[in-house]
Amino acid sequence: MTGAGKFFVGGNWKCNGTTESIKKLVEDLNSAQIEDDVDVVVAPPFLYISQVVGSLTDRIEVSAQNSWVGKGGAFTGEISADQLVDVGVKWVIQGHSERRHVIGESNSTVGKKSAYALSKGLGLIACVGELLEEREAGRTTDVVFEQLQAYADEISDWSKVVIAYEPVWAIGTGKVASPQQAQEVHSAIRSWLSDKISPEVSSATRIIYGGSVNGANSAELAKQEDIDGFLVGGASLKGPEFATICNAVT
Ligand code: PGA
Repeated sequence: MTGAGKFFVGGNWKCNGTTESIKKLVEDLNSAQIEDDVDVVVAPPFLYISQVVGSLTDRIEVSAQNSWVGKGGAFTGEISADQLVDVGVKWVIQGHSERRHVIGESNSTVGKKSAYALSKGLGLIACVGELLEEREAGRTTDVVFEQLQAYADEISDWSKVVIAYEPVWAIGTGKVASPQQAQEVHSAIRSWLSDKISPEVSSATRIIYGGSVNGANSAELAKQEDIDGFLVGGASLKGPEFATICNAVT
């Protein structure tokens, strides 16, 4: 842990759940023993956000998984940051690899959406990460730095930004990055922040790891100097396992 503030664990529920399964997951989270020295955020699908905001303990904040590039209006199928704030959401994830590589969002769109969300007071979980072929071609940091630059082109205040490094080849595959592989990229991101933004932002910003994090591998990853938390997909759908990950640093 290097970034300022507490260890940060986000649960990205993606497009999973039903009214019933989410009720059960919230009950499990409400009764989980989570240490004080960790910030915990969960990101339900849009449809269930109000259900979760209305039933989840205040101990855990709610995030969206995406938001529109600007104010609402005639944008079929989109949700604005203004609307998220209206229903009690505190965070938004932007630039997740599934949005980049499945939906086709560009670096520049991700940057603009992020800046608008921050301007409305939301905290930002800003995702970056390389594809397997990019890693194999030795381009990991080039890709990650380009993605970071696109955020930096639009963002001036970094105080509510958490950076999530998620190698695409590790997401949902069970192939977690080794603690050393993750640490190497986290450390490169911290140096980039120091060079391109400021040493203050570099030391204050939390850089979290995502990609097949689970209850069994989280403690080892959490020991790395520049790993300040996790963004968890599959394992965040199981309340007790997610609680184990939240407590990984203690
Ligand atoms: P995973 O997903 O934990 O299921 O690999 C992580 C993420 O996509 O944020």
